Amino acid sequence: MIPVSKAIQIVTNETKPLGTETVKLARSIGRVLAEDIVADTDLPPFNRSQMDGFAVRAGDVKNVPAILKIAGESAAGRGWHRAMKKGDAVRIMTGAPVPKGADSVQKVEDTEEADGRVTILESIPKGKNIVQRGAEIKKGARLFSTGELITDRMVASLASFGYSNVRVAQRPKVSVLSTGSEIVPVDKKPGRDQIRNSNSVMLKALSERAGANVKLLPQTGDDLAKLKRTISSGVGKADILVITGGVSVGKYDLTKAALRDLGAEIFFERVRLRPGKPTVFGRLNETLIFGLPGNPVSSAVTFYLFVRMAILLMQSARDVGLPKGSAVLAAPARAAKERDTYYPVTLASDRSGRLIATPLRWQGSSDFVGFANADALIVFPKGDSATAGDVRQIVYL
Ligand code: AMP
Ligand code: MG
Repeated sequence: MIPVSKAIQIVTNETKPLGTETVKLARSIGRVLAEDIVADTDLPPFNRSQMDGFAVRAGDVKNVPAILKIAGESAAGRGWHRAMKKGDAVRIMTGAPVPKGADSVQKVEDTEEADGRVTILESIPKGKNIVQRGAEIKKGARLFSTGELITDRMVASLASFGYSNVRVAQRPKVSVLSTGSEIVPVDKKPGRDQIRNSNSVMLKALSERAGANVKLLPQTGDDLAKLKRTISSGVGKADILVITGGVSVGKYDLTKAALRDLGAEIFFERVRLRPGKPTVFGRLNETLIFGLPGNPVSSAVTFYLFVRMAILLMQSARDVGLPKGSAVLAAPARAAKERDTYYPVTLASDRSGRLIATPLRWQGSSDFVGFANADALIVFPKGDSATAGDVRQIVYL
């Protein structure tokens, strides 16, 4: 048995980045950047008015009311590009360039207009209501870096600097295979002694969220020959093959036997982890293989800790671990004696703003209904025991 930290190190060492590709900006959300994003212009690209009103010289409106001649108009997209003289004002709209010679903009509400002249009713300081060229971003500035995940909030910036196409990491190809002779497809009514396949669709969703393209392989049952056939035809087409079930020591746990028969290299097969002790990691040809326990919660937790990381490493993502935090325990909980324990919790803030982690009331590793409500895993080092009010590390799901 190896510690979780060692297992993570092995996954890190064995996972190689894939190539890159170019995608349309609108399709880039959720992808990992494979280029730095650099501003190709100042922003704003000119001194920009923040108000509808009149561009003036602050010096001309020190004493109010001040009457100025309206020399022209600067609209958004159609500026006024002559120099404004002393005693002049230029009508200006929000988003329009401020003419040369003007140094502030008085808002329309503080003016009165008549016969080609404007009366400025309130004086204003220099620079008022103007965003100076380059005040937001300077040309050449790096906004985002290779390895960052493109979010919905980032695309406006990419659009502003002309990234109609974006260089991103290729999506890893993940295939998911469920074993277990008791497992029937979701659209079948389980017969006596059978249950539906809940792992495949869950692992597909988790893999997609990490950036993968996912294929579900046909279920094999606990049939060694079928398992071997499905694995060997699956590996050629996948960067990662995720197998659930059949990794423990039962008579019909055949995943490891199948991998060995096929000549896979096994890097680890037992981790000091609860849930998830029998997790297997190996490689067959060029394909990384994860054998996750069949219990749905164990499957999910081991996915979050290991498979998610491999998918992100293949995309050269900057942040490949789960986001970390800490929280106050609402109830006592303890770790397994020999294994680091990751316990699902819900999170909520109390009145004083402390983040409170409430352990799920669940029935153990098979309780995916309880797990559906989890926000995070609370991390207990092996042997740890905690009482209500203790602070522990959490990882967000
Ligand atoms: P195993 O890891 O094969 O020993 O399976 C452990 C438990 O997980 C058993 O109760 C299985 O019935 C259950 N299980 C295995 N595979 C799946 C699956 N694909 N969907 C739901 N439950 C599963
Ligand atoms: Mg099984």
